[in-house]
Amino acid sequence: MVDSRPGFSRRRMLRTLITAPFAWALAEHLHRVGEAVAAEARHAAIERGTASGVTPECGDGDEPTPRQTAGPFFTPDSPERTSLIERGVAGTRIVLTGRVFGRGCTPLAGALLDFWHADGDGAYDNEGYRCRGHQFADAEGRYRLVTVVPGVYPGRTRHFHVRVQPRGGRVLTTQLYFPDEPRNRRDGLFRPELLLAVDGARTPLAARFHFVLETG
Ligand code: FE
Repeated sequence: MVDSRPGFSRRRMLRTLITAPFAWALAEHLHRVGEAVAAEARHAAIERGTASGVTPECGDGDEPTPRQTAGPFFTPDSPERTSLIERGVAGTRIVLTGRVFGRGCTPLAGALLDFWHADGDGAYDNEGYRCRGHQFADAEGRYRLVTVVPGVYPGRTRHFHVRVQPRGGRVLTTQLYFPDEPRNRRDGLFRPELLLAVDGARTPLAARFHFVLETG
């Protein structure tokens, strides 16, 4: 039997079935590229504002970094260190850098940053301090952390956890995410404002994130 409905043909249906996955993959790819570009633009804008000095405009467009749950794996009293690389920590190395600002782009010297994350295999060390450490931002609010890319674990996309606290101020607890991660769209906690700007062309990988706190 020949289907004579206008606009219908088996060939057309076949073509649709074949091209649909490619269209989905393309849309997914464009979405991820968009995420990465947006993260890069946001960080670059903050840097431009800072480079030109502290201006009222600098802080106007920069919303405070969103808060997120600490999750169940935070351990207090982590060691003070800027590298989490040690025996038994395997994975892709990554250097995370950035600055801590108050509103109005004021660098928050001496701000405390306490990082914790799953190791390269997606496991947290809940007995010790593997992949856990705190540090203090320098006089310009800069921080630098050398670690490994966290592995994924069931139910979550790839992420770092961090608590950031200005001297004598309120703690910001949040999480940082990676661009180009298929799980970002399925993770209910994921927020594009918390995307790292990652330079994957460098070895080790270079990632950047500037925190904007409600103080300052
Ligand atoms: Fe986690």
